[in-house]
Amino acid sequence: MSQPANQPASQPDVLIVGGGTMGLAIALELQQQGTQVTVLEQNFAAAAGHAAAGMLAPHAERLTLGPMAELCLRSLQRYPTWITKLENLTGQDSGYWPCGILAPYLSEAARPTALTAAPLLTAEAAHSYQLGLSQQVTGAHFYPEDGQVDNRALMSLMRIAAQDLGVDIQSGVSVEGFIQRQQRVVGLRTSIGEKQAAHYVLATGAWSSELLPIPVSPRKGQMLAVRVPSGFSQSQPLRRVLFGEKVYIVPRRDGRIILGATVEDVGFTPSNTPAGIAQVLNAAIELYPPLQHFPVEEYWWGFRPATPDELPILGAGPCENLTLATGHYRNGILLAPMTSALIAEQILNKTPGKTDPLLAAFSYQRFHADYESSSSSSTATIMPLSSPPIHLSSPATPMQIIDAPRPLSIEHDGLTIAGKTFHSRLMTGTGKFSSLDIMRQSFTASGSEIVTVAVRRVQTNAPGHEGLAEAIDWQKYGCCPTQQAVRMQKKRFE
Ligand SMILES: Cc1cc2nc3c(=O)[nH]c(=O)nc-3n(C[C@H](O)[C@H](O)[C@H](O)COP(=O)(O)OP(=O)(O)OC[C@H]3O[C@@H](n4cnc5c(N)ncnc54)[C@H](O)[C@@H]3O)c2cc1C
Repeated sequence: MSQPANQPASQPDVLIVGGGTMGLAIALELQQQGTQVTVLEQNFAAAAGHAAAGMLAPHAERLTLGPMAELCLRSLQRYPTWITKLENLTGQDSGYWPCGILAPYLSEAARPTALTAAPLLTAEAAHSYQLGLSQQVTGAHFYPEDGQVDNRALMSLMRIAAQDLGVDIQSGVSVEGFIQRQQRVVGLRTSIGEKQAAHYVLATGAWSSELLPIPVSPRKGQMLAVRVPSGFSQSQPLRRVLFGEKVYIVPRRDGRIILGATVEDVGFTPSNTPAGIAQVLNAAIELYPPLQHFPVEEYWWGFRPATPDELPILGAGPCENLTLATGHYRNGILLAPMTSALIAEQILNKTPGKTDPLLAAFSYQRFHADYESSSSSSTATIMPLSSPPIHLSSPATPMQIIDAPRPLSIEHDGLTIAGKTFHSRLMTGTGKFSSLDIMRQSFTASGSEIVTVAVRRVQTNAPGHEGLAEAIDWQKYGCCPTQQAVRMQKKRFE
């Protein structure tokens, strides 16, 4: 799997869908190991990597012991070497700052168990360690190993380094679907035509379920930044990250201070809201009152890629040449070094049969209802699900992506019915979906353009059927609008 370095090939070894945190980190790792990589990216500015706070906080996040904690701690350990390599490649500063994280408590009750036994500081010690804290602070934990990186600088460095190493980054390209034949991906359908490679990686963050039926959904986070005013006694009065019970406060060395963040289950609803910003500001001022006088510099929002159990989805996908790297939720910046190393190892398979056992805990298959029984011999620990598992398909019939039973040039093989031409002959029905949302996601993932609906389902308001007619985009699916279908159905009985 290798091409001459610094020369984008006509067909790359690996095509990565998504050029955010994971797409870029994996591209860098693979390219450095002699693989020719192309990244297809629809909107670099929308990546959660830009919106994040950049905390490297496995201890402050109070992860419980298990595969996720292990993944995060191993990634934290890699950070110094990984970031130095990136800074050397680009000659630029990433803002990496192993400053430690102070987690002050405003109430006696809120003193959770930490991953490691960090000593509990008394109120007096906490106040002397960070001047200016609220008088309500009753104690704190200090996590000396945690820290931060300037995530915007990181995104820029990864992109520059990847391009310098010869990764072909194609911006403004939307991937519309995976074309599959006999358990292999044979191409991607994109906004600029079809693309092929030997191997494919899905790294589309919060947008992942638009391409595959995996349970990744957006969790919106609103943030803002203030700046220490000129004339203040110190250019940066905060010496370390403050991780409060309701807010985090992340000081940058240049005097900027990042405040975050809301966690909202509102789909891809854009914009900052007064309520969201007020929530963050009030909590930040309550914890560190001097902030109330600092000028506000910027507001923004982003979408974390969340899974039902809040763990990432990593490793082999439903096709033999498809790898998944998504669902990093609140810890994607922290997890970039370890994710890229594990994914490169899995794809390159340099020591056959020796993939890191940790990967097993993050397989997409854990969301299959029958996974636990079929994998009882696995060493993977399955974390408890905070919501019911989504039943995708049985292992014997892996996920359908875009069915390509015929040669790839599906554009030349249109099926015309009633004057409308379809690019796929695959038909999908509306029955047996647990929700309209899952139905819509499955339509998109299947690549089908023809949907069959029983007219009685469209007309009824019975539970589970309400809103069905509105849930389907009739411009896209099928050629027979509902009203017309209803008229036709009535005629049959006349
Ligand atoms: C408010 C906020 C605060 C956060 N704070 C932290 C923190 O302090 N520490 C930490 O470790 N993590 C933090 N995170 C989480 C972290 O940012 C994410 O986990 C991480 O960025 C996810 O990386 P990703 O590559 O999966 O997704 P992204 O970085 O979102 O990248 C996905 C990319 O895929 C592209 N894409 C999507 N669909 C397609 C398509 N069909 N075709 C082509 N391209 C496509 C998108 O345009 C996007 O650029 C935070 C996130 C948010 C939103």
